Amino acid sequence: MLVLLLLPVLAAPAADRELLELLEQIDATCEWDPLREAGVILAGSDRIAFQVGTPFVLINYTERLDIPAPRRENGRIVFDAGAVEAVTAAVTRMRTERPEAGLRIAAIVLDPGHGGKDPGGVGSRTVDGKPLALQEKDVVLQLALGVAERLRSVLPGKDVVLTRSDDTFIELEARAATANALQEKLGDAVLYVSIHANASARSKANGFEVWYLPPTYRRTLIGSQDAEGDPDLLPILNSMLEEEISVESVVLAREILQAIDAQVGTVSPNRGLKEEAWAVVRNSRMPAVLVEVGYVTNPAEAAHLADPAYLMDLAEGLYNGIVAFVARFERAGSSGDR
Ligand SMILES: [Zn+2]
Repeated sequence: MLVLLLLPVLAAPAADRELLELLEQIDATCEWDPLREAGVILAGSDRIAFQVGTPFVLINYTERLDIPAPRRENGRIVFDAGAVEAVTAAVTRMRTERPEAGLRIAAIVLDPGHGGKDPGGVGSRTVDGKPLALQEKDVVLQLALGVAERLRSVLPGKDVVLTRSDDTFIELEARAATANALQEKLGDAVLYVSIHANASARSKANGFEVWYLPPTYRRTLIGSQDAEGDPDLLPILNSMLEEEISVESVVLAREILQAIDAQVGTVSPNRGLKEEAWAVVRNSRMPAVLVEVGYVTNPAEAAHLADPAYLMDLAEGLYNGIVAFVARFERAGSSGDR
């Protein structure tokens, strides 16, 4: 089935007939960043990154395949017949030779924000007619522990790591570093989900939202030590890898937002997807999102966020979103954990 995903920032491409046929043939979807003129074809768990004017694609960000460079004509992306043929052959070969391979998520890092000396946002709710403080650090820790427990029972083959599992203060840089080190060690992809609660001077503000890194944010993903041969390749490789991470982050953010909405959307407003280079996620070299589960400064929402049953619903939503993303990411390798 051919599906072109519409994302708020990554528009579906106005694709040429050859590209559309290619997508259909390999049962794939495509995400396209018009600003960078780069895109990713998502074929099950395989990813094919391309860029207009670049005479090769990257398959799963490791294998380079030379093709006639995709072009842009009248706003459309054009893959020549030769390019379509080469990509189709490569995907077919990969699926035959190693049907269970493709990309795999090895670990999920849950990052409950703040902790220790840093309470995060502080609000209050009324208990027996008296105001009782509610601290963000406590809400998000309870939540993260709940999500971790669910993930561990359903995805036993994956590492589920918490940046903190008690009331400890951890520097921002150390949080992303934990995730990056894990990814380096495991070799496969790691998801990074930072969990926060919001605060506002406006006590009426309420609702949940999910943030991801804007695709235009620049990171150095591949260092020069990894560059083999042509040094001119490095910026292109980085650009393609960035594209991949941006695309996956948006998809992860969308899955989590929808899943939380399904759990608590009747009680708390959905504030939507947002993009920002948050300090806490900007140093992670992997799909990363930041979830704001609600406002501790809204008295009614604070009452919910202090309620274990409501936190359980939120944890369920976060968990469902992550699992949906993992299933999607690993779809072609549906044999599960290896
Ligand atoms: Zn926070």
